[in-house]
Order: sequence, then structure tokens, then C-alpha cells
Amino acid sequence: VRLEVLGSAGAAPLQGACASYVVRGGGATLLLDCGPGTLERLWRRRLLGELDAIVISHMHADHVLDLVMLSGEIVQALAGGGRTPLHVPASNGPEVLARLDAAFKREPDAPSRFTRAFDVREYTATDTLRVGEMSLSFAPTAHPPPCLAARVSDGARVLVYGADGSPSAAVEELAHEADVLVLEATLLDDARVAAEHGHMTAIQAGEVATRAGATRLLLTHTLAGVEEQELLERAGRTFAGPLAIARAGYELEF
Ligand SMILES: [Zn+2]
Ligand SMILES: [Zn+2]
Repeated sequence: VRLEVLGSAGAAPLQGACASYVVRGGGATLLLDCGPGTLERLWRRRLLGELDAIVISHMHADHVLDLVMLSGEIVQALAGGGRTPLHVPASNGPEVLARLDAAFKREPDAPSRFTRAFDVREYTATDTLRVGEMSLSFAPTAHPPPCLAARVSDGARVLVYGADGSPSAAVEELAHEADVLVLEATLLDDARVAAEHGHMTAIQAGEVATRAGATRLLLTHTLAGVEEQELLERAGRTFAGPLAIARAGYELEF
């Protein structure tokens, strides 16, 4: 399995693209989340038109906004117009897509830009998806609205992407003995503020990784103005394994 981080900024693309991760394995290429800045990275990395599926963890702007640009006619022509499967959380996913579509429509009764560009499919925490030889299973996270963490495996190796959310038993279980665990570290160490916003701290990310028995931890969804060294130091207090920041351009084969 090969992971490439296209973007990892939390909340807003102040220091590069927001949530966007390319996972290759089992003969397929998967995009996890499509935050602002994703499209430019896909283009520069020659990945536009190369995706076998897109899976969206939840419908917050920092995880979905570039779906608007990616579904545009000119971009779709460049991408080859293959109607890539787009998996969104059931109910809330199509609702948000419909509202985004309505905001940018030229003709009121034109078909949705998203259904024209993508094969839109809904999924829930109990579904299993297959993309090539990769299988994906999910768990709900402690974050509003429906937000799903993903466990991606090619049969040999396991990557778990925790999406957004405070620590939870469900995500910990999903991450059991993951080779690579990607967890948000939106805050350094203020667990009270993190809980109020449905996020976790770097210290908590280390705790979750340790309890899950993960081999390697990548911290993501970091906020502008927070020092990377401080994030690593906090997570290192609670996790003894290899630790890194999932900044844009980070690649790992495992
Ligand atoms: Zn987010
Ligand atoms: Zn969110």
C-alpha cells in the first residue's frame, strides 16, 4: 500500500490543501476526502482521471469543497469524464451535494453537476466497499454531522484514516493493529476545547494509537499557527512508535 498526502490542513487551506489522501494498493487508486486545494495537487501529480474511487468521510467544507471544482465541465473533460464512483455518507452526503449544486447551477432544471461528473453512492458505517483489491470498512467518529473513519486494506497491509473526531471506542477498534494510523491533531493538548468541537489533541492521538496497537502514527488536520515540533512532542508523550506529520507531499510505502 502506498499513501500520498495531498493536503492535511485542518479547517481552512491556510498552509496548503485541506484533507486529501491518495491510497494506492491492490491495483487501484483511491482518494480519501477532497478538501480545498486537492484539485491543484491532483493535476500537478498527474492523478486527474487516474482515480478509481473517491470516498468522503464527512461533508464539512474542509473535506469536500474541491468536489465543486472537480465536477466542473472543463475539469471533467481533462479528467476523461469517466464518472468516478463518489462515496458519500448516506443521507447527509446527497443533501449537501444538492445544496452545493443548487448554489452554482446556471439552469434551474439542469442535471446535478455531481451526478453528471460522478457515480454518486451513499454508504454507512456498516458497509464494506471494494476498490480494486482494496477493501474498506468504517466506524462512526465523535464529530458532527455523520463522519466516518475508514480502514483500508489490500489483504496484507492496513491503513486507518480517522477523519475528524474526538477519541472514541469505535475508532480505536477500527484502528486495531493498523500498520499506519492517520489521526487528526487539531489541538496540542487542550482536551476540553477539543471535545467541545468534536476534535482531538496530539496527546489524545498518541493515546488512541497506543491503545489500538498501531505501528505508525501520522498526525493530520493540523491548524495554522501550531508548531509541528510541538505536535510531535505532545503525541510522543503517549505513543512510542514512529510518528510524523502528514504534511502535503508526504509519501509512505508499507
Ligand atoms: Zn475537518
Ligand atoms: Zn469536520
